[in-house]
Amino acid sequence: MKFPVEQILNLPDMKVLDFQEIEGGEIIITIEKDVKYSTCPHCGKPTYSIHQSHWRMIHDLPWNKKPVLLRMNRRQFKCHKCKKVFSEQLDFIDKSTCYTKRLALDIVEQVLNSNVHSVAKRNGLSDDEVESMLKKQVSQILNINLSQVRRIGIDEIALVKGQGNYLAVIVDLDTRKPIEIVCSRRIEDIREVLIGWGVEVLERIEEVSIDLWKAYKNLVEELMPNANITADRFHVMKQVNEELDSMRKAEKKAAMSLEDKSEKAHKLEALSKSKYSLLKNQDDLNEKQKDKLESVLKVSPKLGKMHELKEKFRDIFQTTTSWGDSITKLLDWMCESESYFPKSLGTIVRWFGEIVGYFDGRTTSGVVEGINNKLKLIKRLGYGFRNFSNFRLRSLLNWHFNVNAP
Ligand SMILES: [Zn+2]
Repeated sequence: MKFPVEQILNLPDMKVLDFQEIEGGEIIITIEKDVKYSTCPHCGKPTYSIHQSHWRMIHDLPWNKKPVLLRMNRRQFKCHKCKKVFSEQLDFIDKSTCYTKRLALDIVEQVLNSNVHSVAKRNGLSDDEVESMLKKQVSQILNINLSQVRRIGIDEIALVKGQGNYLAVIVDLDTRKPIEIVCSRRIEDIREVLIGWGVEVLERIEEVSIDLWKAYKNLVEELMPNANITADRFHVMKQVNEELDSMRKAEKKAAMSLEDKSEKAHKLEALSKSKYSLLKNQDDLNEKQKDKLESVLKVSPKLGKMHELKEKFRDIFQTTTSWGDSITKLLDWMCESESYFPKSLGTIVRWFGEIVGYFDGRTTSGVVEGINNKLKLIKRLGYGFRNFSNFRLRSLLNWHFNVNAP
């Protein structure tokens, strides 16, 4: 017959020796393992000889909003066979922590909806204790995932637009989750993080999708010798779009300096507020935007041609399924675009291998877009740049906590 407290406590191996409720304070439950012996981890022989008692205070889940402390004897036994001294195994608590595993999981979940400081306050813990719970979770998560990682994307995001605060995000392209967030986009910082993964993990990486930055390419070649490098098609597309947009601005400027007043008004009218209609995928335009596009194409044949080429370019990536076709189509596109997209063309020539590499695995880290938005949200919930390590842990947990929680 078990004492009811034991049933609520739900730690099957433990017996309750004492229960104390402090007025206006915490509940202290004194517990001890229910068996008189322990098995030696070195030789597997059971022993009844207690070498020493070790009384410790352990934080556990609150009862009815009251903090609970487990006053616990973690006994040290002595093995008669191999003469070694050892502490008994307790599966609800990690070595050298002062909280139960189930409390840590609960705290981490709370932090995901709030922030470290208020969770610490609410639970009668210190900020450091809550942070160490987070760190433990993250290290477990990362250990599990890295051995499975085969295809990654490296990308950078700005959490605050225009402030130059860039982070590098490393995404597992197969699970579509970020697996690392680096405090800057500096190559030295990214290198350090990747090296920390270990040679075995790095050598198993088969593909890395990067944006069009030479330094990333060099880094991947240096650290991941077996990886195919592919250029993210979103970055190529972005450059094509930027070039189209510069032409839109140039056409607008040219219209401004027209002598003929009615022609000037007509052109400016057509070109004003036309950015969206020109840059957005044509299939996604609504009626009003289609009309806008129509009138832009009427006043500027050059923009019309560039718009057509831009759509063609997107179509190549969208619909081409064979690697050989992709090369032919891309080369055709480059011939046709030479005088319209000189900048993009230069980029495509420099990165041709990596760009057509996309068609091998159709790899894109475009998934980073969504991750980017979520990170911004997390930041607003209470992490500034001043405490990057919290922000990093918190962000990674956001994607990995539910999946890997025991
Ligand atoms: Zn032994």
